[in-house]
Amino acid sequence: MTIPGAWRRAADGAGLLGADGAVRPTIFAEMSALAVSTGAINLGQGFPDEDGPTEVLNAAVAAIRDGENQYPPGRGIPDLRLAVAEHQRRFYGLEVDPDTEVLITAGATEAIAATLLALLEPGDEVVTFEPYYDEYGAVIALAGGVHRTVPLDPPAFLPDLARLRETVSDRTRVILVNTPHNPTGTVLDRETLSTIVELAERHDAIIVTDSVYEHLTFGPEHIPIEMLPGARERTVAISSGGKTFNTTGWKVGWLTAPPELVTAVLAVKQYLTYVNGAPFQPAIAAGLRLPNTYFAAIGRALAHKRDVLSEGLRAAGFDVYPSAGTYFVVADAAPLGFADAADLCRRLPELAGVVAVPLGAFSRGEYAARTASLVRFAFCKRIEVLEEAAARLAALPH
Ligand code: PMP
Ligand code: GLN
Repeated sequence: MTIPGAWRRAADGAGLLGADGAVRPTIFAEMSALAVSTGAINLGQGFPDEDGPTEVLNAAVAAIRDGENQYPPGRGIPDLRLAVAEHQRRFYGLEVDPDTEVLITAGATEAIAATLLALLEPGDEVVTFEPYYDEYGAVIALAGGVHRTVPLDPPAFLPDLARLRETVSDRTRVILVNTPHNPTGTVLDRETLSTIVELAERHDAIIVTDSVYEHLTFGPEHIPIEMLPGARERTVAISSGGKTFNTTGWKVGWLTAPPELVTAVLAVKQYLTYVNGAPFQPAIAAGLRLPNTYFAAIGRALAHKRDVLSEGLRAAGFDVYPSAGTYFVVADAAPLGFADAADLCRRLPELAGVVAVPLGAFSRGEYAARTASLVRFAFCKRIEVLEEAAARLAALPH
């Protein structure tokens, strides 16, 4: 039987199912499974190997024991919405109304899916940078949208603003921004963000911004695009507790937006998950209320990890690009004689006992061909794990 459906449009026309009818796993699932089956060190999928703050973990345990185990309200529990509003005020000076301008979601993943499904009509264009987080391409296609990209090229991985201006048009319904940027580690600067706002205003597009790494920067400050003049009224700003509190498996995310945009997204979200994570919601609220010292310390600790892994990759013979934020660093395997990063990543467990992800998983066509030897490594691991990975990679022939 031929299975009909929107799945055919996604994964850039190849479909979300393979020729054998099985699910085509995301690159993260594929590489994590490879790490498990080979016992290799997993620097592929971005998840920490240590628990986050005890206060946050204890709050979840307490909430389960206190009976917070039934459906929370559709918008999320009031105290978490308040904690999100307090966080936006404390870090960015933004005033958001917790009752009408905040929505709690099943991770940033659901926030992105619900937002795009709510805002796109078939044929509408969405502009993102390339490489891009794989979910963007899949959901744009499921919604019947058309995905246009602006390249972030090595070595700086910064956009060409003239190219951005050419790509955004009256057909653009959404400009989807991700900063700090997965997979390149780029933190977008004010000039780029201002250009995006200017183009969104000119072409009456909505800005959707994915800031899940907002606290994980190593020097440049994260600038929420919704802080820029003219942006607030047309921006859906998305984030998540997973990266900030080392709780990627909890899937508690949120978005802030003007009331009418929140309502449109909620109308879709209520039929996706309806709600999720009842006992985790108060725990993430506790996390969002941790002192400034906590938020400053996680960036510092991660910067050190980035340095340890980047140094190890350089010593192993890779060209390593700078990373100013996120969990990730991009390295070029060409100097080691590997032109095809996808092939290298499949063989890396056997060659070196390490798993990584090819940049091609975040791109397509001409960009993917141009960057075929680039690999993304995750450094959100304990120092001794990173040192062991570096030692193993140093054994690669070069
Ligand atoms: N956006 C980006 C850029 C990501 O890297 C991730 C994955 N960690 C997500 C969204 C998904 O976040 P969540 O786990 O909260 O759904
Ligand atoms: N965001 C994580 C990464 O980029 C993975 C999330 C996932 O597995 N979907 O590695």
